Amino acid sequence: MQPGDEPVGKFSYTDTPLLTNQIPCHITYTNDKVHDILRTGFDKSPMFNGRIQGLGPRYCPSIEDKIERFSDKDSHQLFIEPEGRDTVEVYINGFSSSLPEDVQFKALRQIPGLEQVKMFRPGYAIEYDYFPPTQLKLSLETHLVKNLFFAGQINGTTGYEEAGCQGLMAGLNAALAVREEDPLILKRSEAYIGVLIDDLVNKGTQEPYRMFTSRAEYRILLRQDNADLRLTPIAQRLGMRGADARMEKVQAKKQAAAEIASFFRNASVTPEQINPYLSAHDSAPTIQKVKLHQILLRPHIDIEGLATALPELQQFLTPYTREYIELAEINMKYEGYIQKEHEMVEKMSRLEELRLQEDFDYNSISSLSLEARDKLTRHRPHTIGQASRISGVSPADVSVLLIHMGR
Ligand SMILES: Cc1cc2nc3c(=O)[nH]c(=O)nc-3n(C[C@H](O)[C@H](O)[C@H](O)COP(=O)(O)OP(=O)(O)OC[C@H]3O[C@@H](n4cnc5c(N)ncnc54)[C@H](O)[C@@H]3O)c2cc1C
Repeated sequence: MQPGDEPVGKFSYTDTPLLTNQIPCHITYTNDKVHDILRTGFDKSPMFNGRIQGLGPRYCPSIEDKIERFSDKDSHQLFIEPEGRDTVEVYINGFSSSLPEDVQFKALRQIPGLEQVKMFRPGYAIEYDYFPPTQLKLSLETHLVKNLFFAGQINGTTGYEEAGCQGLMAGLNAALAVREEDPLILKRSEAYIGVLIDDLVNKGTQEPYRMFTSRAEYRILLRQDNADLRLTPIAQRLGMRGADARMEKVQAKKQAAAEIASFFRNASVTPEQINPYLSAHDSAPTIQKVKLHQILLRPHIDIEGLATALPELQQFLTPYTREYIELAEINMKYEGYIQKEHEMVEKMSRLEELRLQEDFDYNSISSLSLEARDKLTRHRPHTIGQASRISGVSPADVSVLLIHMGR
């Protein structure tokens, strides 16, 4: 059984009540028998017999892809997800397939837990076309046709969130264009939306693009707990509906996090008060009075745990919500890293526009990686900023270029 998240999370900072009474998912596995049955359908699969030539989504391969690509594995994990509260239907996550219907059904019945399963609809494959997103401006307006904006799957992405966020940006920028105002372009250090659009427009994509956290270089800044802090001021500046009320909440949250941080910097604990808690959490005991802030910086120590050990802290935290406490904790625990990343953003923004010579011979710099030499020669970026975003050009390669340019 796979129960839902505890505590329950939300997608946004709205006042929607938290979900209660969640329905669990379940896990099961394929086995050799399942794989053997699926293989009998391979010659009829449009993906295998060459009828479809597109590239499958790398990160959610079909079950036949998994059997073929990871042939050393004798089982694959499946999530059985209920489709709703009022139905017996379940979605078999991890079993997407374009094999013939009878083969799918026979294979399903060999999976533990699904011996008696009925199949409402078979899995199927889809193929779609897209316009290379390198033909867009960062505002998502097409270079070729003024006032035509593209968003979503048409730009080579796959996924609900990828489509949703581009729709928001294209809509916003279409409205700004009508008002004859500058477009809104989110930076890579401001939002995952900024990373996604910058990747698409500057690098293009050869396969269905998904937004992964790993594509962002400033992951410590792009956090879920600070999404409202990062983006609400922008919404307010643009005059988006409801932004004023949201901004008030953001201010209250910032204020609360500052108050909590100030308590931690000022309050001290004695060895008698804190040592039992520390030893229970594999943390060395203290021999003298120490600021709470110092204790919090230690690994395995968090505010919630400290509060259970220190009644005074527990009482101080009573008026603060979990979100406030989480923000305060992250700000304090990761302060050094957050600061370092802000400095990196600033450094990169200074170097962003540094121009590269067009006819530069990258092959003459032996300390660049082979891949970087090849990609730089092929793409001929105009600036260091563009060079740094070419896939295959690592931060180390960018440093080599900077040294070469006397920076
Ligand atoms: C079976 C399946 C399962 C998926 N599962 C997931 C998943 O689990 N998670 C996930 O994140 N993503 C999933 N995706 C991908 C995700 O659904 C899409 O990437 C996303 O919905 C694309 O949104 P979009 O707005 O760009 O395009 P669409 O949702 O395709 O919207 C385009 C709209 O334009 C309309 N249209 C087309 N031509 C015209 C015309 N000439 N005039 C007027 N209207 C027109 C179409 O009818 C359609 O309504 C799945 C996709 C499929 C097919």
